[in-house]
This record gives sequence, structure tokens and C-alpha cells, in this order.
Amino acid sequence: MGSGTRFRVAICGAGIGGLTTAVTLSRFPDIEVEIFESAQQLAELGAGIGLFPRMSFEVCSFVKIVLEYEIGPWEIVKKLGLEEDLLKTTEIKITDGPVSSFKYRKSDGPVGYDFYTLVTKGNLVTFHRPDFQKVLLSKLPPSHKISCSKRLRSYTQRLSGPIDLFFEDGTTSYCDVLVGADGLKSAVRRSLLTEKAQWAESESRCGEASDFIASIEPVWCGTNAYRALIPAERLKARFPGHRTLTQPTQYLGKNGYVIAYPISKGKLVNFVAFKSHHDLENTRFNGPWVCVTESAEFAATFRTWEPEVQALVDCVERPLRWAIHTVKPLKSFVSGRAGIIGDAAHAMTPHQGSGAGQAIEDGYVLATILGHPATTRETIGRSMLIYDQVRRPVAQSVHEVARQNGRIFTFSAPDLDFDHVSSPEEMSAKLQMLSHRFTKNWEWAWTTSAKTVIQDAFRLLGPSRS
Ligand SMILES: Cc1cc2nc3c(=O)[nH]c(=O)nc-3n(C[C@H](O)[C@H](O)[C@H](O)COP(=O)(O)OP(=O)(O)OC[C@H]3O[C@@H](n4cnc5c(N)ncnc54)[C@H](O)[C@@H]3O)c2cc1C
Repeated sequence: MGSGTRFRVAICGAGIGGLTTAVTLSRFPDIEVEIFESAQQLAELGAGIGLFPRMSFEVCSFVKIVLEYEIGPWEIVKKLGLEEDLLKTTEIKITDGPVSSFKYRKSDGPVGYDFYTLVTKGNLVTFHRPDFQKVLLSKLPPSHKISCSKRLRSYTQRLSGPIDLFFEDGTTSYCDVLVGADGLKSAVRRSLLTEKAQWAESESRCGEASDFIASIEPVWCGTNAYRALIPAERLKARFPGHRTLTQPTQYLGKNGYVIAYPISKGKLVNFVAFKSHHDLENTRFNGPWVCVTESAEFAATFRTWEPEVQALVDCVERPLRWAIHTVKPLKSFVSGRAGIIGDAAHAMTPHQGSGAGQAIEDGYVLATILGHPATTRETIGRSMLIYDQVRRPVAQSVHEVARQNGRIFTFSAPDLDFDHVSSPEEMSAKLQMLSHRFTKNWEWAWTTSAKTVIQDAFRLLGPSRS
């Protein structure tokens, strides 16, 4: 480590969260950064991803971004100097006024009907996910070392001295700060919560210790998503003039919903069907979490739905089944000088398309706190606690409203009963209430800002000690 180096940060995981952390840290040349990634090559990483003010929609191979220019991940994209390069990767032009986005239909009967249009601030702009990662990678200075084929197994830390990192290939490394950006099955989370449990046990806080251990493994949320790209020509042939050839649409009904919208200049329709068993939330899923499967596995759920939905389902061949797993709300994202971000900290359901946006915000906020002059090798632990204090409540509230939207979209919100509706007027009133609920749940994306979080962090950090 050079003599002018403040401290050394190891980032475990080069997904969107880890790379955002690394790019943000590059603004502080006195912080040494090394990234450890389990994949053999960075180009192999991930599928599609997208941001929606502070949220994201993941599609098979594209990024969809609803741009909101003053707040949220796009503000971070601009601050990191990524905007120009990112916009070069798409032909879509930005507008910043209110635009109609998804149409919502009640579809779980022979005749479906529109009941709501979501209006967003700014338009949808689509990107290819590898382009997004390439742009992030292009902003990394040569001094940031990236080591691939390095799967972290665990770490250990003492009260002072470096954190020791142990990799599956038997090698080791060290750092002063460890950022776990290693996704849903995070090895950093496992070590971090085990460490916290040991400390809690040593102070006879046994209940707390078992809570930490119980939060290590992700849990199934009771919902599976079936994803496919449908060639527009196939859908046109099956259902000429199908609205999803031009109009993003969400088809809602009991225990399931379908999202479909055109991508790739209208050549493809991105399709995701959700099949929910909410009573199985927080149980173990038997089978692979992500795999290619047969359409028959989900088609029966939608057999009695309106013809538009049937047509989409008929066009799906061998969808990708994603058994959606989440990380239970944790009591802390940090332990000493180690911390977790993104899916490692708060993997959430995709019902607000927020996972990637939240990972970007975590990475940006944590790196900005680490870069603040008040963070020195002696005060790293305090700065990590400040990251936990300012980011955890935000990310966990998004986790919760995404969960709620999953229930609302499948007519399963506990206090909104769609099983006993006696008149069209009552149905219409309930659908109005339902749209009000899920829009309200999304409002944070328009009304809150990562800026406030940074301001809070700086207030807590206080003046520089240098
Ligand atoms: C199939 C699928 C579909 C999804 N669909 C959606 C969606 O529609 N909408 C949405 O918002 N979100 C979706 N998500 C979630 C979204 O991808 C995440 O929220 C987002 O990518 C989080 O970014 P991250 O950087 O925290 O983690 P990741 O993108 O998961 O990156 C983690 C990185 O860490 C690496 N890694 C893992 N373990 C180790 C280790 N032990 N050592 C070193 N490196 C390691 C991985 O290779 C990876 O590069 C989906 C996820 C999956 C798997």
C-alpha cells in the first residue's frame, strides 16, 4: 500500500452495485480499491436490468430506465459522468414531462378491461445491460485491480488490523474495509451475520444471535416469475393488433399477473408472468431457483383469463422460471469494518423493479461516506454505522412496498377482498382503491432523493478530522 493511501477497500462482486461503488471510490485517489469477482469473465455477468426513478425493471437483455432527472439512480449516473456514454448506447430520446406508462387491466375473466394508466415523470429509455456494465467498467481507473475467478468463501476481522479474506481457490487477501456486493447468496452476508451472532452470544444476547443466524439464508417469497421474449411476428400472427406490440400493459388477476411490453424497436415483446402462492411466503423452494422450464408449468393459472393474455401465453416457448427469493429484513448491514450492499443486503421482490436502483444507491452512498475526509482508518467502523443508519431504512421500506405491490397486483392484499364482490360498481370502487394503493406505494420514487440520504450522512460524519 502506497504511503499516501488512506486505506484499502475490497469489493466482493462486480455486479451493478459493486461497480457503482468502485466508480464512486475512484473520485478519492487516496483510497486503494480491489474488486474480487467469482465469474471467470466480466462480460458473462447478468441479464437485463433497468431503473425507474430510483427503481429498476429487469428484462431479459435490456435495461429500461424511466428517467427522473433530479433524483434517484439517474442523478447518480450523471454525477459519476456516465450519462453521455450511456445515452450513446440507445436511440431513445429523453423527455422529462409526465408520460403515460403502463396500462392496467383486470384480466382474470373471459372479458378484460382497462382500469388505470400509470403516469410517470420522464419517459422509458432502454439500454442493453452489458452496455451499462461496460460503461461502468470504462470509468474505472487502471489503479483499481479486478480479479476474476475469485469466489469469496469467508472473512475474519479483529478489533484492529486488516480484514482477512479467504477464497474458494485456497488463496487469501486482506483489506481495511470489505464491501459485500456479492448478490442474493452473499458469502459476505454469511460471514457478517455469523460474526454478529458470535458477538451477541458472547454478551449473552442469545435471542439476537439466533435472529442473525436465521437471516443468513434467502427465503422464497411464494411467487415464481416466468420470463420470455416473444417475437412480435409470432404474436401478430396469433392475435393481430395485440396491444402489447405497442403499449406496455400489466394484466392483473387473482394469484397472478402478467407484464408485457415492446422492446428492440418493436421486434420483440418482453413477457413476464407471475404465479403466486402467498401462503408459502418465507418457505423453502424445492427445485432450482433459476431454470428453463415448460410453459405448461404456468399456463394453467391463466387458462380462464381474457383472450389477450391467452394469446401471449400461447406464444411463450420454454420460459425462464425464476423462483423469487428475498433476504429477510436484516437488523444491520454492517459489522465492524465490513458491510453489505444491494441484493446481498436486501434482495427484494421485483414488483417495483427496484433491485438494481437500490444497489446503485447503496454503492454510491457507501463510497461517498468512505471518501469523506472524516473517514480515516481509525474511524471506518463509525462511518460504516452511518451508512447502515442512513441507507437501511430506505432500502428496507422499498423491500416492504415491493412486497405489498406483489399482493396488490394479485388481488391478495389482506384488507382488499376481491373474492366477494356483489356488483360492477363495487368492483370498480375496489379497482380504484387498488390503483391508488400501488401508486402510493411507488410515490417514494418521485418524492424522495438520494441527496437527502447523503446530506444526513454528512451531518452525522461531522467536520473532517484531517
Ligand atoms: C433471474 C433474475 C431476474 C431478475 N429480475 C429482476 C427484475 O425484473 N427487476 C429487478 O429489479 N431485479 C431483478 N433481479 C434482481 C437484480 O438483478 C438485482 O437486484 C441487482 O442485480 C442487484 O445488484 P447487485 O450488484 O447487488 O447483485 P448482482 O447483480 O447479483 O451481482 C453480484 C455479483 O457478485 C458476484 N458474486 C457472487 N458471489 C460471489 C462471491 N462469493 N465472491 C465473489 N463474487 C461473487 C456475482 O457473480 C455477481 O457478479 C433479478 C435477478 C435474477 C437472478
